[in-house]
Amino acid sequence: MINTRSPNLPTSDQIDIAALKARYRAERDKRMRQEGQAQYVRPVGEFADSYEADPYTPVTPREALDEDLEIAILGGGWSGIMAGVQLRRAGLDDFRNIDHAGDFGGVWYWNRYPGLQCDNDAYCYLPMLEETGFMPSKKFTDGFEILEYSQDIARRYKLYDKALFHTMVNGLRWDQDIQRWRITTAQGDEIRARFVIMANGLLNIPKLPGIPGIDKFQGHMFHTARWDYDYTGGSQKNPVLDKLKDKKVAIVGTGATAIQLVPFLGKYSEHFYVLQRTPSCVDSRRNSETDPEWAKSLKPGWQEERRANFHRGANERFQPREKDLICDIWTEVNRNLAAELEEQDWPELSAEDFAARYEDMDFRVMERLRQRVDEIVKDPETADKLKPWYRYQCKRPTSNDNYYATFNQPNVTLLDVAATRGVERMTEKGFVVDGVEYEVDCMIFASGYEVTSDLDRRWGFATFEGRDGLSIYDHWRGGLKTMHGVMTNGFPNLYIIGLNQGGLNSTLTKNFEEQSAHVAYIIGEAIKRGAATIEPSKAAQDGYVQHLRDTEIDRTEWIRDCTPSYFNNEGKPDLDENGNERYRFYLGDVYGPGWDAFVKLLADWRADGKLEGLVLEGSRDSAASDAAQAPTAEPA
Ligand code: NDP
Repeated sequence: MINTRSPNLPTSDQIDIAALKARYRAERDKRMRQEGQAQYVRPVGEFADSYEADPYTPVTPREALDEDLEIAILGGGWSGIMAGVQLRRAGLDDFRNIDHAGDFGGVWYWNRYPGLQCDNDAYCYLPMLEETGFMPSKKFTDGFEILEYSQDIARRYKLYDKALFHTMVNGLRWDQDIQRWRITTAQGDEIRARFVIMANGLLNIPKLPGIPGIDKFQGHMFHTARWDYDYTGGSQKNPVLDKLKDKKVAIVGTGATAIQLVPFLGKYSEHFYVLQRTPSCVDSRRNSETDPEWAKSLKPGWQEERRANFHRGANERFQPREKDLICDIWTEVNRNLAAELEEQDWPELSAEDFAARYEDMDFRVMERLRQRVDEIVKDPETADKLKPWYRYQCKRPTSNDNYYATFNQPNVTLLDVAATRGVERMTEKGFVVDGVEYEVDCMIFASGYEVTSDLDRRWGFATFEGRDGLSIYDHWRGGLKTMHGVMTNGFPNLYIIGLNQGGLNSTLTKNFEEQSAHVAYIIGEAIKRGAATIEPSKAAQDGYVQHLRDTEIDRTEWIRDCTPSYFNNEGKPDLDENGNERYRFYLGDVYGPGWDAFVKLLADWRADGKLEGLVLEGSRDSAASDAAQAPTAEPA
């Protein structure tokens, strides 16, 4: 057998799909909140201060900058790093990464909570492994290793030379007179950049539930993205939280972050409360150290092959006789399906037949995961509360070997807050559930990030204006309008990495690599051709958006019955032009024909060399500056 079924996987006749669907719907309805996104507030008070401040790197005072710059990259996380790498590869050297943080690393810089690990296969997630020769120490490697590796790439590509840290951009305005973007920062900088690459991340603004009374609480509070080791004791590399031994602690949230963190808080707190609205599904982790013999056996091209295999396993389907190289929760449904199809000698299946088989397997896998809770959690009532009732990938699937066992400890209490659609109320001393006040010393918010809130709230730039003072927020109010997902009409020389209106690869960093390469090509061509500005025509942009619509896969059926979360805009549908309900998928308008087709679309467009759909205008300042900026060779 090339692929094997998971042990204890129920058969189709052991589950009742109609009954499960009814249960899923009831669980969704129980949690629906009329106010949708409005249930969350921007960080306030203590939180706002801790969000603005950098606890990890001292701020070095500097003079405000007043400069002309060729390319500004806003961000120094993976998307900003990949943008810098691809610019260097294209021979474009006059750029700066600008970041609010004190160093490169993005989410891995800010998040340092105990137990932080990559939840995806690190051999896929960490980019450029073949080029750098680096090998992650484990399959799900530690957060600090990822941070160090991201900084190593930044060093190799000399991104530190000009990087501007501890710098919060607060405004962007296109100035047609000088044909540049005017960038202002909270530090008083005035930067006039010819090109701007937005690489400002998806998971950077901590999200706070607007719990009544949250501002009254007199104890200690923090968000997981700003872990307070001074309060808990320990450090990221040595998470012995010994200062909690006489503390009552509560965590709000049971998403991917909390799953990693809960075993540590359960181990060290005097008493630990887990406030759960929707349970995650948690499989066994099967994490392992990297086998040096396996690493040595890898042949050139292995990482791209592995990433392609992961993408098919997590988001598409395995090819006949293809082995699942990843074998974790992300490929769980497709691996089990592949094992059964193999037993049947790979019958030809139409798209509809495959979808029906996939759906059946989805329900069986979720049933197996619910049974896993019963196998580990001793108290049946607690076990019941921990069971996930929704379809696979309605919430991010997770894995952890200690999460469920934590609830067998006498100092750990699970409090289900689904009936009140979230934590009911906070008081000076703690919080209230079912009319009972629980006194705690510390509340920790594992409540996620602003992923799908309105862009003006999420990006936070007071001004973001393109040609003729057009605000980007107004421009996109009715939905994204881009060409190739990275540029938009009315905003010359502006590129966006990480926003999705195109292909989606299961490895996030792969998306950034591909988008960055495309952007570097376009900027390089504009410079080579001597143009001052380059932007998509409205017709080209409209044509691209129409192509996306014509080929899109409607996820409404699946996503409507998911429990509300940022995955489905908190369960709130939009109405299309015909008044039909459409459920927004948090990762944007994903290109229906798939990732490979998207990569080909962009590659064919570049190979054609005509920059079709782009309008080039004006000429650059001087011949000298042209010569200085003309792309040179491959990277050092
Ligand atoms: P999530 O948004 O996934 O989870 C937030 C949690 O807070 C949910 O359980 C949510 O419940 C809960 N919550 C929100 N409001 C309330 C309320 N009023 N009362 C009670 N509970 C509430 O955030 P995470 O930080 O866990 O994860 C965010 C993202 O970070 C992930 O999706 C992933 O992309 C990334 N991540 C990546 C990792 C990696 O290794 N690559 C590891 C960890 C995170 P409900 O579900 O009901 O809304």
